[in-house]
Amino acid sequence: MTRKLIILGSGCAGSTAAIYAGRAELAPLVLEGHEPGGQLSLTTMVENFPGFPEGIMGPELVENMKKQAERFGAEYKMERAVRIDVSKRPFVVETDLEEYKTETIIVASGASARFLGLESERKLLGHGVSTCATCDGYFFRGLNVVVVGGGDTAMEDSLFLTKHAEKVRIIHRRDELRASKIMVARVLKNPKVEVIWDTVVTDILDPEKGVVEAVRLKNVKSGEETLLETDGVFVAIGHKPNTEIFEGTIERTDNGYVLLEEGSRTNVEGVFAAGDVHDQEYRQAITAAGAGCRAALDCERYLQSLE
Ligand code: NAP
Repeated sequence: MTRKLIILGSGCAGSTAAIYAGRAELAPLVLEGHEPGGQLSLTTMVENFPGFPEGIMGPELVENMKKQAERFGAEYKMERAVRIDVSKRPFVVETDLEEYKTETIIVASGASARFLGLESERKLLGHGVSTCATCDGYFFRGLNVVVVGGGDTAMEDSLFLTKHAEKVRIIHRRDELRASKIMVARVLKNPKVEVIWDTVVTDILDPEKGVVEAVRLKNVKSGEETLLETDGVFVAIGHKPNTEIFEGTIERTDNGYVLLEEGSRTNVEGVFAAGDVHDQEYRQAITAAGAGCRAALDCERYLQSLE
């Protein structure tokens, strides 16, 4: 059986594409990927998605999108694409469990958290080091934590962590935060939060003991090194696109984002992309949803042109 459309990813972009493609009777198969629901499934209250004046919880928003897509015939599978072959038609998508044939693909595989790249960070991941405050914040009730980063994610994580932790210290490598003004204002007026400026984390202690006890810090201006005791480290320094499996097939930028030629078209005819896997600039839930819509419409038109 050859499917009309396979969508890789089930975040805002993938599920919006699935709603539109479902309504166009393309019966899309959505491969949910390694983070079902995408980044919204790892967040708490979403206050800037239009239509929800009181806000909506991220996991609920993506679950609603999935239900909406299923209502129009989209099929979701908890599988992750591990290889694609777009050199011949129909395309082949191989997952960890199955192999599928399809006429078109929408790549909406999103982006995943970046790490500092420290050996100690890798060893202590899940033992006091985390990239998901909403998943792990609860474990730090009454304790001290640090959040690394100066973007909206770091601000959001810090505010979330104040609900559990006693003290939250943001470690930022510059003297100015990248995050939006409203988030910065909330953080700076929260008495539980302190920002440590111009500073990077050079090591996390103590991997030998298998538990986080402190971070080694370096002031990038003065060069001064200090040790700060902490119980947890939340790394919130941005994301990298999930595009490894497209190497050598779909054109990407130097930093790995899928390149688009016109609308949502990639360099491969019949392969479209939407959301954070392509977007380095806006990266919002609503822009990803809009891009998913655009990709589904481009895909539908492409399939019609083949008839
Ligand atoms: P981001 O905006 O790219 O910020 C990453 C932060 O980490 C920056 O402050 C950066 O420092 C720092 N950083 C990067 N690499 C580092 C390293 N190796 N060591 C130390 N610090 C490092 O990423 P994000 O915060 O995940 O946000 C991504 C997008 O999602 C943004 O468009 C954001 O607006 C959006 N977002 C929105 C909301 C919301 O509206 N509520 C919530 C979360 C995310 P520099 O500033 O020096 O580059």
